[in-house]
Amino acid sequence: MIPSARRRRHDPGTTRLYRSHARTTRSEPARPTRRVQSRWYGRPVSRGALVVGLQLLAAGGAAAACGGCGSTSRPPLNGPTPVATPTPTPTVPQWTVSGTLVSNPSTQPIAGAEIDTSTAVIRTDSAGRFSVTGTCNQTTMSVFISAPRYVGRVTTLQTGSNRDGVVIDLIANQPPFSMSFYNDLVRGVLDFGAPSPTRRWQQDPSFYVTTVDEFGAPVAQSLVDTAVSVIPDIVGDVTANRYRALRIDTGSSTTSPTVGTILIKFPAVGLSAAGDASGVGVNPCTVRVWQADVPSGIPQVVAHEIGHCLGLHHITVTGLPPTEAGLMGRAGPGSWTLPRLTDIEKFHAAILYSRPVGNTQPDVDPASWLFSMGHTVLESASRRIQ
Ligand SMILES: [Zn+2]
Repeated sequence: MIPSARRRRHDPGTTRLYRSHARTTRSEPARPTRRVQSRWYGRPVSRGALVVGLQLLAAGGAAAACGGCGSTSRPPLNGPTPVATPTPTPTVPQWTVSGTLVSNPSTQPIAGAEIDTSTAVIRTDSAGRFSVTGTCNQTTMSVFISAPRYVGRVTTLQTGSNRDGVVIDLIANQPPFSMSFYNDLVRGVLDFGAPSPTRRWQQDPSFYVTTVDEFGAPVAQSLVDTAVSVIPDIVGDVTANRYRALRIDTGSSTTSPTVGTILIKFPAVGLSAAGDASGVGVNPCTVRVWQADVPSGIPQVVAHEIGHCLGLHHITVTGLPPTEAGLMGRAGPGSWTLPRLTDIEKFHAAILYSRPVGNTQPDVDPASWLFSMGHTVLESASRRIQ
């Protein structure tokens, strides 16, 4: 058993970290989530009208030539006009975007899913394949993708030219996935009472472990060694091995961390908690771990705070399947058994790292995110695991 006193030490720190989260997260504007059309949510109704308007514009012969869409056949502007020949209808340049819809995390194709473009509904075939066609004028297309037993997703396709090999995934809405657990761990519902947009790192983090305390006195080498030892595993756990610790340095520098770096300090003066982090999903990030904490708890505290830096909020450990204490539980170090995420935490953290920053509930990608490449974040993560 871990002495309860240690848990008490962490609890105030939880509050302290909570305030830090609030500073960094609450200022973000919430995306609108109201349902504006019968099949849509999270998208303004004007987008569909815009699509129709652009198509009408193209049909009227005003479309400009654009790459990848073929050529436009038109009568000469100043040439003789045969009286008996009817005016040919201009050919409207078109694009086709094709790809596959797959399950997250299995990557199995999803057949029979519906892709709603707001002007049409496309259904995936038995191999999960889909094909969307539009006119050259339209360079992006917002879609709502739905399928039974999956979390519906709103995202945006890069269009305007022919494209194949686009792979889009939906979250399989069945165990071990739990939306309530995901909302706590990834969206901060337990900490804030309402879901926040996702925040996570988008590069390999480097680490700097400070070997002196705030007074310039040396920190026990065992503490520095402990921090260094837990870093590789916790980075892999949180990011589904999408990112790795690029480098781990130790030294007596007291400069602030630069972008791409997580700084780890061991203050001599007691914190109001076993440890804290400067924010959730912030880059750069600073972790502080009170060096007088019970030594056996130091590895877990370091890993927990790095988990915050990389984008994870607190969870409740009640009812976890299986019934194991999560590293990101806010009960404190007394309930943390290893400086690693549990399997259920890793499963949901992997979904965070398959989504763009700013993804909102339930699975709404920011409008700036375009599916334009022949692979997805999900596939990239799979390759890194191998
Ligand atoms: Zn915490």
